[in-house]
Amino acid sequence: MRKIDYHMHTHFSADSEASPREHILQAIQMGLDEICFTDHRDFEYPECPFELDADAYFQELQQLQQEFQDQITIKIGLEMGLDLDFVDEINAFVNAHPYDYVIGSIHVIHQTEFYDPALYFQNKTKEEAHREFFENTLACVKTFDCFNCLGHLDYICRYGPYDDKSVDHSLYQDIIDEIYRTLIQKGKGIEVNTSGYRDRQTCGFPTFEQVQRYYDFGGRIITVGTDSHTSDRVGEHVEEVIQKYQEIGFEDVSTFTKRVRDS
Ligand code: ZN
Ligand code: ZN
Repeated sequence: MRKIDYHMHTHFSADSEASPREHILQAIQMGLDEICFTDHRDFEYPECPFELDADAYFQELQQLQQEFQDQITIKIGLEMGLDLDFVDEINAFVNAHPYDYVIGSIHVIHQTEFYDPALYFQNKTKEEAHREFFENTLACVKTFDCFNCLGHLDYICRYGPYDDKSVDHSLYQDIIDEIYRTLIQKGKGIEVNTSGYRDRQTCGFPTFEQVQRYYDFGGRIITVGTDSHTSDRVGEHVEEVIQKYQEIGFEDVSTFTKRVRDS
């Protein structure tokens, strides 16, 4: 199975100062076969503007693609914040440039982000907050076609005013299963986002039980990404995730060119 890192941020994202070149050097050092840059674009993010200068992004990354073409395969992707309030704007943004791969991620719901417990989680039980997150994810997956893989499926477990932030998937499994069925029917996949190892200690986003469930429904499109915002994290936990994928039964990870699956 190929070793890839298909989720990385650089100075083109508002929340990173990382150098794309340093990411590439670290990826080579880690023995990765292929990487994909996926800098952020979110519309109406309340705290900081997640804009992306796509022309400058392509210019810098295309030069690096050429420079390192004999050493590693480099793709130019995007992490697009899926937001039902900006459907036309999001589709237009993705279609304006030839991205190789697009992660669709839910970072806000109706311009309310999850970082500040006083906002999204206020006046909700934990179950209500998590249920709304998964219902919104399902609505986004049904509405949008411009992405290849759903980002960090149960990422809501990182936030909230709770000692135990974990998600009890069984409470929402009917919604999550419908997310899997919709993704599979639309030819889209999921990622395991290894930044979850920091929060959960033992696994990424989502849990491998959920990856197994996606597989059992017939899902075969899978990527792995570190969500690195600094170069030292590029490639982190990728080998462990790939080992788990093999145990589940996947034959390989998926890679993409111009938003079409390579394999
Ligand atoms: Zn994200
Ligand atoms: Zn990310």
